[in-house]
Amino acid sequence: MKKAPISWLNLSIFLITGLIALLLVPWYAFTVGFTLTEIVATILCLGFCGMSITAGYHRLWSHKTYDAHPLVKFVLAIGGAFALQNSILHWSSDHRNHHKHVDNNDRDPYSAKRGFWHSHIGWMLREYQGDEYKNYNNCKDLQKDKIVVWQHKYYVPLAIITNFGIPLAIGLITDRVIACLLSIGVLRLVLSHHFTFFINSLAHIWGKQTYTNAHTARDNAWLAFLTYGEGYHNFHHTFEYDYRNGIKWWHFDPTKWFIKSLSWLGLTHKLRTASEERIEQAKTKHKMQLMREHLTQHPHHHVLLEKLEAEYEILISRMSAFYTAKKQLIEFKKQKLEADYRTSDIYLQFLELKQKLNEQKQLFLKFNLTLQTA
Ligand SMILES: [Zn+2]
Ligand SMILES: [Zn+2]
Repeated sequence: MKKAPISWLNLSIFLITGLIALLLVPWYAFTVGFTLTEIVATILCLGFCGMSITAGYHRLWSHKTYDAHPLVKFVLAIGGAFALQNSILHWSSDHRNHHKHVDNNDRDPYSAKRGFWHSHIGWMLREYQGDEYKNYNNCKDLQKDKIVVWQHKYYVPLAIITNFGIPLAIGLITDRVIACLLSIGVLRLVLSHHFTFFINSLAHIWGKQTYTNAHTARDNAWLAFLTYGEGYHNFHHTFEYDYRNGIKWWHFDPTKWFIKSLSWLGLTHKLRTASEERIEQAKTKHKMQLMREHLTQHPHHHVLLEKLEAEYEILISRMSAFYTAKKQLIEFKKQKLEADYRTSDIYLQFLELKQKLNEQKQLFLKFNLTLQTA
């Protein structure tokens, strides 16, 4: 089959900036050196670009996991142009295709099934999309967003102004133009590019499949450090409408903290989350599936499988009873009946259900351990 034509613009940008970052920047660091101001400014700009992609392009526009004040949108749109990853409209269209057709080599623009290189950067080096390149039909909602339309229209000048203007301005102020162009201009851009690209490549290859193996996306805490929290990618592909990627408080997800903090200032609102019940159900269902698969290789699998299915049924029904009680309890609390809250029947029933659920979880876990040693 004939290969798609090379995208010379993309290839030149990645090649030239990559070579400068790999060769010229270290050479300059050894011969002349960078100042603390330049290092700090590079890190700050790197964070600004990265968070504009994760909080803006990804969680706000592609997935609409929350709403934001126009001022926040404007700042994120500028940061996105600075990150040089195409316009919001184009990026979101690609990304919605990635989710809708994940791992489908023909329709997922950066399908992980085509290997690390393709999903990381290869997909941008050739004009794979052909005539479909400017088809934004899956982003009709974004075409009504004034900031998205404005950024798309002026994307090229915005990208040039931010990428040359910001390093140049800092360079002129500090009288270190070359150093600033190298560090804040090029090194920041190359790191920012590859940190984001890791989400499409490594986050689909390296890590745990906590919720499902229906797609290649994986949860990886290490990757979360480089990607502003986007390393919890198995969760993200399973619950894409959730504004969080790392759901536990200790999960490193600065994008989530940023969105949540802005909500306290009234700058973001309607933060969407998947319910605890649905998350736990998905996790248990997936574990059950793995155990089923494991059991089929076991000599006495019929008896064991029957027992396992029975335990699983009880677990699921206890889970649903527990979460229904929890919901009722929250409702009850809301109605300001705090006074007799702890002696109420509903609270005692909730405690009982909680204990029963935990017992069943232990039993289920024990079953899993026996299986693994069997
Ligand atoms: Zn996504
Ligand atoms: Zn993905």
